[in-house]
Amino acid sequence: MHSASVTQLLNSLSSGALTSRQLVQSCLDRIAACDSQIHAFVHIAAQSALEQADQIDARRAAGQPVGKLAGLPIAVKDNICVRGMPATCGSRMLQNFVPPHSAHVIERITAADGILLGKLNLDEFAMGSSSETSVFGPVCNPWNQRLTAGGSSGGSAAAVAAGFVPLALGSDTGGSIRQPASFCGVTGIKPTYGCVSRYGLIAYASSLDQIGTLARDAAGCALLLQVIAGHDARDSTSLTQPPELCSPEPQSLQGLRVGVVREHFGPGLDPEVASAVQVAVSQLQAAGADVREVSLPHSRYAIATYYLIACCEASSNLARYDGIHYGHRAQKFQDLTDLYCQSRAEGFGAEVKRRIMLGTYALSAGYYDAYYLKALQMRRRIQEDFQHAFQQVDVLVGPTAPSAAFALGEKLSDPLEMYLSDICTISTNLAGLPGMSIPCGFTGDGRPIGLQLQAPALQEARLLQVAINYQNNSDWHLRQPPSVTA
Ligand code: GLN
Repeated sequence: MHSASVTQLLNSLSSGALTSRQLVQSCLDRIAACDSQIHAFVHIAAQSALEQADQIDARRAAGQPVGKLAGLPIAVKDNICVRGMPATCGSRMLQNFVPPHSAHVIERITAADGILLGKLNLDEFAMGSSSETSVFGPVCNPWNQRLTAGGSSGGSAAAVAAGFVPLALGSDTGGSIRQPASFCGVTGIKPTYGCVSRYGLIAYASSLDQIGTLARDAAGCALLLQVIAGHDARDSTSLTQPPELCSPEPQSLQGLRVGVVREHFGPGLDPEVASAVQVAVSQLQAAGADVREVSLPHSRYAIATYYLIACCEASSNLARYDGIHYGHRAQKFQDLTDLYCQSRAEGFGAEVKRRIMLGTYALSAGYYDAYYLKALQMRRRIQEDFQHAFQQVDVLVGPTAPSAAFALGEKLSDPLEMYLSDICTISTNLAGLPGMSIPCGFTGDGRPIGLQLQAPALQEARLLQVAINYQNNSDWHLRQPPSVTA
């Protein structure tokens, strides 16, 4: 059950070979037995999940109609609000926050009869690339517990890789679904900006944040994405026309123009990652794709541009946590200003503080034009690079991250090194495009490697078509981590 795909599980549920209670119970048992090694979950909703499972089993047994996700357990990154469950963002600031409302995506999942199993660990406020800055402690990679799971949706990727849940929700501001998916050997998709409502997602950088899905395979990601995508008036950037997603039927790649981005193969790319990606590209070619090289000439400015814009937006979004309106309140203070200062000093961790300070500085009078405005101009150049590339090709492929999973603690003291692990993913967010990571191999010492796919806005179907075709002809996504044993 812990290695089955979403499609297999749905078949077993609908044929009656498996009840939803059995499935939920077996996930809970596995979490209880193994999550002390992984730390993927920060909250487990066992009682309500079992009750929901019983209701769906009863409806199915009575021959009543059930939703698209009927009986499937789903776990949720802890920056997405689920009514009645904590939403901590991995921060002391929100450690006691239980939202009174559910995110749009959660309403959609519940309406489709999906079962909410619990909340997943992450980098504090989704700021990070290793899931090490959470107040609950780091997520460990199921393939090797001395390694990070990537971040910030490290809990989501690890939970799927460890077989705790078949489906998870993550969020991706600069790569936070795709990079952990690649580190943990699972599949993850970040949809086009505006495709999924951000209502109920605790904001980090609003012009970049997007909720997406993780599963063992692309068909699983597609199913959950289909449920959560769609217009929502409560998010002013929500698109009225959600993308058409393909049915998980294999389609030919004959004649599909696939671009390999020259800049993604520059210095700093691990040679084992480069060769696994090159093998995957030649397999796409063998399947009929027309492979050519393309250039995204402004790629080298992407990290600087992203970290300016993301920090500026974060400094504004996180201003609300003052101990009065929201968040942790200090107990000892002298006056109102001191209460704000103490609450924020105690509530936020070092990385979040660094970003608030960077963003506040870059937005201040006198520096705004030199930093923030310049970054916005460069963001436009980066968007134009993609427009130009997509005149020549239909999809882009390359590495998801410049290396496979790194060791816990390895990059914690060097923020710039940590930021560089987003070098292949962040341009997608700056341009608002859909991106995906699928497993495409392993390093010699057994660390998963991810292949990134990118497409023009609203062309999720194209990404999924390539991913499903690749997964029908490979078994990387079927491998299971050896170190997680019940
Ligand atoms: N690692 C990037 C950051 O720290 C991306 C995070 C994300 O996508 N949420 O900002």
